[in-house]
Amino acid sequence: MAETPSTSGDPRRPLHPESLMMSHGYRPELSMGAIKCPIFQTSTFVFKTAEEGKSFFELAYSLREKGPKEELGLIYSRLNNPDLEILEDRLCLWDEAEACAVFESGMAATSTALLEFVRPGDLVLHSEPIYGGTDYLLHHVLTRFGVHAVGFRAGSSLEEIERVLAASGRAERLAALLLETPANPTNDLVDIAMCAEIARRHSTADRRVLVLVDNTFLGPLWQHPLKHGADLVLYSATKYIGGHSDVIAGACLGSAPLLRRVRTLRTFLGSMASPWTGWLLLRSLETLKLRMTCEMKNARYVADFLADHPKVDRVYYLGHLTERDPQYALYRRQCLAPGGMISFDVSGGEPKAFRFLNHLKLIKLAVSLGSTESLAEHPATMTHSDIRPEERARVGITDKMIRMSIGVENPDDLIADLRQALDAV
Ligand SMILES: *Cc1c(COP(=O)(O)O)cnc(C)c1O
Repeated sequence: MAETPSTSGDPRRPLHPESLMMSHGYRPELSMGAIKCPIFQTSTFVFKTAEEGKSFFELAYSLREKGPKEELGLIYSRLNNPDLEILEDRLCLWDEAEACAVFESGMAATSTALLEFVRPGDLVLHSEPIYGGTDYLLHHVLTRFGVHAVGFRAGSSLEEIERVLAASGRAERLAALLLETPANPTNDLVDIAMCAEIARRHSTADRRVLVLVDNTFLGPLWQHPLKHGADLVLYSATKYIGGHSDVIAGACLGSAPLLRRVRTLRTFLGSMASPWTGWLLLRSLETLKLRMTCEMKNARYVADFLADHPKVDRVYYLGHLTERDPQYALYRRQCLAPGGMISFDVSGGEPKAFRFLNHLKLIKLAVSLGSTESLAEHPATMTHSDIRPEERARVGITDKMIRMSIGVENPDDLIADLRQALDAV
């Protein structure tokens, strides 16, 4: 969208993303002075002249190069729409990305990006555990198109990943590494820079191996994968970006040339977000930093309480890593804060874990994460139930594990709720 002030007037001091979330990319004079961007609930846009229509299409279909001052004209909401374009401009600010495409779900973002960059016979190397929907897409859907997928355990060294790659017998067809870090629900970290090095080693002159990072758990505030060598960042915007458990959406960010390809496939798969979804996310972004900061602070209180509780065997929380931990240095290098996700083992296995969940009052028993309300669930029988038990054990998901997403409630109320539910165990 058109230019709006994105600096404080002093070019040496650009404004922070949170200061720009209310205005960036929106011009009130184009919308009757409305201070907020309206919902452009329209499928198509009127051209002033036939020549203008022709010119818009030439750009949209890359039939000619864009002029230096030329903007992409509005044509049809499967190609572009003001709510989506302004949202994409604003999302770029957090990750300092050149370009962004928004989708009607996180899965739409992941599947569109993967489909654009893999071909039959290619190999996708992915971290484990990975989001269940992504796992299914890789191992049950893309396989139908001759694409192979092999996982490596989060926390693996470069040598271990190279061994997995060599054992696949398809190293020369490696197309992409798909990472999720921190891993869900164990909070194990994957070294993005190390994976970018592996991608570089296996790239050839006519074939660049890409690194895609699902940044749903810590982004876009607490981890910026593009700065560590990732090519594309993926989001389920359903989680922290949307932040209110009321919308499903996704995003993909990266360089302009890569995003041009992703956007083109989005046009033909029709996986773009709707204007209403775009508008909801614009509203959410205004409080993104407030929410994520509060959730991160609350999570620390909760994690400290759990770590001291006699009925809790183990807490999986990034904020508790110490210098003795093998992942500590990576955490300091790659993450800006521990975020709001905590997993923990309740002494006694599934029956005790269920008793705990059934006694929660303030904290809701539901899957999903990143919302204003705190949520708790049981990965082994819920989000990760379709993973074979021996596989679950291998990646560290126990039957006594609870995953929690911490919200913006008063931390004393959260702790009181946890205390009474643990008392009932
Ligand atoms: C929820 C989630 C997804 C899928 O996103 P949807 O918006 O539900 O399609 C992908 N990755 C992670 C890490 C998620 O938590």
